[in-house]
Amino acid sequence: MHIRRLPPQTPQTSQTPQTLQTQDRRLNPPVRETHARRLNPPVRQQPDWGFFAHKRINRLATLTLPPEMMVFFKPNIDYLTDHAVDPDMRRYASKHEGPRHYIDLDNYGEPPYDQLPRQWVDAMLSHTEIWMVNAAGDTSLLIGGKKPLQPVWQRDYKFWFSRQVLARFYEDDETISVDSLQTFLDFMGRKEKPVAAFYREHLSEHGVLPWNLQRMQRQLTEAFRQRDSRRILKLAADMGHYIGDAHVPLHTTSNYNGQKTGQHGIHGFWESRIPELFADDTYDYFVGKPEYVERTEDWFWQAVFDSNKLVDSVLTFEKNLRRSFPQDRQMCPDMRLGTMVVTPCRDFAAAYQESLNNMIERRLRAAIHAVSSAWYTAWVDAGEPDLSKMDKPLMNEQEKKEEEELRKTFDRGRIIGRAEDH
Ligand SMILES: [Zn+2]
Ligand SMILES: [Zn+2]
Repeated sequence: MHIRRLPPQTPQTSQTPQTLQTQDRRLNPPVRETHARRLNPPVRQQPDWGFFAHKRINRLATLTLPPEMMVFFKPNIDYLTDHAVDPDMRRYASKHEGPRHYIDLDNYGEPPYDQLPRQWVDAMLSHTEIWMVNAAGDTSLLIGGKKPLQPVWQRDYKFWFSRQVLARFYEDDETISVDSLQTFLDFMGRKEKPVAAFYREHLSEHGVLPWNLQRMQRQLTEAFRQRDSRRILKLAADMGHYIGDAHVPLHTTSNYNGQKTGQHGIHGFWESRIPELFADDTYDYFVGKPEYVERTEDWFWQAVFDSNKLVDSVLTFEKNLRRSFPQDRQMCPDMRLGTMVVTPCRDFAAAYQESLNNMIERRLRAAIHAVSSAWYTAWVDAGEPDLSKMDKPLMNEQEKKEEEELRKTFDRGRIIGRAEDH
């Protein structure tokens, strides 16, 4: 799930006409859906509906934990709730952040996606090219893409790749040590003599959600082992967010906002508008105790596959309803923090929800249970450490500065990578 940014304090020139348009519509309701869409595609500074579900998920997951965990999690429930949306805020600060929220499964063929590597290192390996620059200054592709390595070298390549590329992946420096590359080339008996080398990866553009969850589960387990209260809370809050995203069907397809099927805006309709309207009044939030998960690596994949199976219904039912529901009762003007926005009407949203047989409630419940189960599993795998006498997790100066910086970048507001709401 993702955020809708708040409108900026001082309107920028490009936003002024939108505001006027929406006000015009307010004077002339009802709003016809077709007009709304034609006039209004740029209205995307809708407030924080996307925050709603993420916060609920983390909060409710906390309340299902066993007493041995509750003793630490309950006093920190506000932290876990408030920080459930940090990952979305980071999308404004780092290019690595965006891809962690989705995976375009359709990029990898059809279910059961046999060709899709379940481990990050294998996936990266098959989507990364190594480029070299020779003494004359010419750049050429060395390994990967159109120049795959012979199978006989794959094992050694994987070893080299893990140490020289993956280990430094988040340093944002795409150069590769020439010495290490030369050693590997010599080892394979190749003749090339690079003077510089770098890599290009093409995995991130299709999203890395399940692989990132696998990595975070290991990190959270380690944080429990260390009894590092600050890290436990930070990782638990973040994981709650990503697991929430994994339960949203439209986070598993390249048609994430209906943009390929003429259903622009369906992303926010499904994951933000409907929960905001109905969740607290009508959803059954009681999901029972967390369960220990034997193989979390497969389990995260299963979550995105289950979500992906629902994509067809999410799109088809909305399309059908748009045809059968009275057009002038589909989109309604709504006042949000001083800004007029056009959004699916309550009755229309209720009809969509019903046609989906309460799918959104079921996915929200599944997400809550998955979050508490992931936290619980990490704690068990860490040897069930005693959480009753943990340090009070105060932020240090460095973290305070980082948080402030994050909020500033968010307020300036340019998402890096894919934004779902436009
Ligand atoms: Zn989303
Ligand atoms: Zn997200």
